Amino acid sequence: MTEPRASLHEAILSRRADLIALTQDLIRIPTLNPPGRNYLDICAFLEARMAPQGWACELVRAKGAPGDCAEFPRWNFIARRKGTRPGECVHFNSHHDVVEVGHGWTRDPFGGALEGDRIYGRGACDMKGGLAASIIAAEAFVATHPDHAGTIEISATADEESGGYGGVAFLAERGDFAHVGHVLIPEPLHKDQICLGHRGVWWAEIETRGRIAHGSMPFLGDCAVRHMGAVLEEMEATLWPLLAGKHTEMPVIPEGARSSTLNINSIHGGAAEQPAGFTGLPAPCVPDRCRITIDRRFLIEEDIAEVKAEITAMLERIRARRPSFSYEIRDLFEVQPVMTAKDAPVVRTTAAAIERVLGREAGYVVSPGTYDQKHIDRIGKLKNCIAYGPGLLHLAHQPDEWISVTDMADSARVMALVLADLLG
Ligand SMILES: [Zn+2]
Repeated sequence: MTEPRASLHEAILSRRADLIALTQDLIRIPTLNPPGRNYLDICAFLEARMAPQGWACELVRAKGAPGDCAEFPRWNFIARRKGTRPGECVHFNSHHDVVEVGHGWTRDPFGGALEGDRIYGRGACDMKGGLAASIIAAEAFVATHPDHAGTIEISATADEESGGYGGVAFLAERGDFAHVGHVLIPEPLHKDQICLGHRGVWWAEIETRGRIAHGSMPFLGDCAVRHMGAVLEEMEATLWPLLAGKHTEMPVIPEGARSSTLNINSIHGGAAEQPAGFTGLPAPCVPDRCRITIDRRFLIEEDIAEVKAEITAMLERIRARRPSFSYEIRDLFEVQPVMTAKDAPVVRTTAAAIERVLGREAGYVVSPGTYDQKHIDRIGKLKNCIAYGPGLLHLAHQPDEWISVTDMADSARVMALVLADLLG
């Protein structure tokens, strides 16, 4: 009998053509989100592959979740395989939705073209390549360890790109993570890196208030856009310097995201824009409302109450010196930062597997934006969770997105070794 790890390696290598074909098949199902197209198709495709191999498959519709409707139902897929002996449950979670195509493609975004070592397509790296790698890893592990312990689960879930409420959040609310011991999310963080978590998010809308009047006599009104100008000036003068000075111990990539950041997602004030092709002129009015949406990313060292208080304090400074300044602030969305400890079992096991497969030490990173780990942490109450998968993060959401076949195969070897360590 061969040494089990060597046969596991062989089992992955011998599945290279299958890995390529599976990735291409997944890319060719255009699961665009929004609005959430073809979710049932991709779940049915996965069921047709895995059920005949003895996996217990379940299709779960997130009824009533944001976006769920008769035309665009939010379908999720879970496959489970119980071993012959008791043990822990290892869960691989991938999202099956992809973002819009955008402009600038030189390949068919849903063609899955293979060129050299690369497979092209929307979702190739984010994250159908990671999903394919985890399936191949699990199948190779099961083939070489038919008497394994514990349970393996593979899920493909909806809506990660729009918050995950029709996907992982829905499953976590159902209790689907209650029995799970370890979670790996094969997001494209690269085959030699472990992503421990992500920064926090707070979205809010700030509105300044004025009074409408005739534009020829602006002194009779009160311009909300000028008030917003004062807000933006104060942000330039005090807020951005303050945020740039806050540094985190989290190993966030890219490095620019190791500070607190704030983006203004939008600004609207005064008369609404007219549709393209409208040939009339605007009417002269003093704008009585102006709104911005802010996207504040915060660090594990920061408290969300402080983050909000900073903005309120800034607005109050303006009010103190600016006659008739009034504002309203509305919360839109918030997510706490999460970071799994480096000595958590899933981190240690994956780091050891990376070292064995790639011959170098694993890197540790934190994502600048959030992903489904937030729901596993907050709703599922499971801390033993990481993102680990093939692909380069900067290719995500770009034209001509691609994934390297070699990187997928290497990641699959790492994932299979993780299974061997935890359930072998
Ligand atoms: Zn993703």
